[in-house]
Amino acid sequence: MQSPVLLARELRWHTRQALVRAHGQALLSITLRVPLSLRRDGRFLDAFEALCARVQQCFKQEGCALTPVLCARDADGPARHYVLQDAQAGKRLAAAFEEDHPGGLLLDIDVLDAEGQPLDREGLHLQPRACVVCGARPGSPCIVGKVHSAHDTQAAFLRVVHRLALREPWPDRIGRLALRSLLYEVSISPKPGLVDRFDSGAHSDMDFYSYLDSALSLQPYFAHCARLGADIDLAADALLTALRPLGLEAEQAMLQATGGVNTHRGLIFSLGILSAAAGRLGPDCAAADLCALAGQIAAPSLQDAPGDSHGQQANRRYGVPGVRGEAALGFPSALAVLPLLNSDPSPDRAGLRALLALMVRVQDTNVLYRAGEEGLRFMQQGARALLDTEIPAGYLTDFCRQMTDRRISPGGCADLLAVAFFLHSIDTPCSALT
Ligand SMILES: [Zn+2]
Repeated sequence: MQSPVLLARELRWHTRQALVRAHGQALLSITLRVPLSLRRDGRFLDAFEALCARVQQCFKQEGCALTPVLCARDADGPARHYVLQDAQAGKRLAAAFEEDHPGGLLLDIDVLDAEGQPLDREGLHLQPRACVVCGARPGSPCIVGKVHSAHDTQAAFLRVVHRLALREPWPDRIGRLALRSLLYEVSISPKPGLVDRFDSGAHSDMDFYSYLDSALSLQPYFAHCARLGADIDLAADALLTALRPLGLEAEQAMLQATGGVNTHRGLIFSLGILSAAAGRLGPDCAAADLCALAGQIAAPSLQDAPGDSHGQQANRRYGVPGVRGEAALGFPSALAVLPLLNSDPSPDRAGLRALLALMVRVQDTNVLYRAGEEGLRFMQQGARALLDTEIPAGYLTDFCRQMTDRRISPGGCADLLAVAFFLHSIDTPCSALT
């Protein structure tokens, strides 16, 4: 009688052929490329699920979408099958993933064309795969000749899966970078009219520590948004609806952390959307692409019934775009000041310069609500004068005092500064962390 594993392999081949015929399209199949003894091991099954999601994400980013058609598990291990348009492009991307991604060693990604013929690396002039144990290329003689002991082979694959488990998952990294951007924003000191390390600016109901508590309460929310964004079954224009209940919960967490003060409501909206966009695009995404996708996600918010927040009241009264408008346009103001964050090795000076540039440029609805158009003009002229004169310390102190006296607090600009810090940290390539 045939062994269950050989039977499973034979059935899998027939299944793949049947899927090609049923869909009339090329088929991509992902299986675990590890010794049979490890194919039911939970660590490898978890890694398999995560890697399949990553493959799907990478293909989508390269414009070669995979549509899942079957996921199965049998005596030969787990398998996921997808149909795709372009078999050759798919095979090239598959080989690149197997070679370049730190978990690619654990996968076999096979492609059948629309006639059910397998594509191999040789036919596309791609180099053969290496041996996981000794690195020899091609690796097939090691496997066929049983060059390495079962113990050594298992140990080599376990090292790969352990390294993967130690890496910070991308959504968690997004949550951490979002938190970092909130902490950087509030820490930049001095900031005219705003809470910083030295004082509470034009505010009497919050201080530096309210902001730290509030920021820390929001980290899980941003990671959650990133996970939702990574769910590629949700269309970009449907993401906002899915994000809303998370945003309401985050607001409750913020109010609980601050004793009822609104410290970060605008950023729950803006950075929530950017976190979802970053979750979808994956590591190494460029700031401009991130903002373009965030704009698509935010666009439906422009159709919302007008709210009664201070910012929204000012939007209506003065006809300015506000936080929703800035988001729907893909955060043009935050992108515009991004280079200024590299303008000085001191975060305080670089951050202040970016903030002043935002104060010149943005029709801040917080300022309009509390100080009207006259307050906005005063702030814009003061910020412009400081930038034009390389921010002399005496003028800066005067300006900060005048802003506090006039109760002008550019909270919208502060939010965009946090957005700029987030874009800046995401824009720095770090493929080791993918
Ligand atoms: Zn070898």
